[in-house]
Amino acid sequence: MDKSAKEITCPKCSGKEIGVGNQSGYAVMYPDNKMSLGSKIKYLICVECGFIIESYVEKPEKFKGTH
Ligand SMILES: [Zn+2]
Repeated sequence: MDKSAKEITCPKCSGKEIGVGNQSGYAVMYPDNKMSLGSKIKYLICVECGFIIESYVEKPEKFKGTH
């Protein structure tokens, strides 16, 4: 088994087909205390039921030191 190919299963419908979505424009996440460009948000979406399994920013290093 190849462990690097992590299989993701939808917790809602047990679907195994996962798509990747992007949000940009007004949905960009900006660091709280920096005059800096934000990061796009990415989503892992079940293509069967539309459930968003994961969302994360593309460049988490931009958010260091904001808390
Ligand atoms: Zn699903």
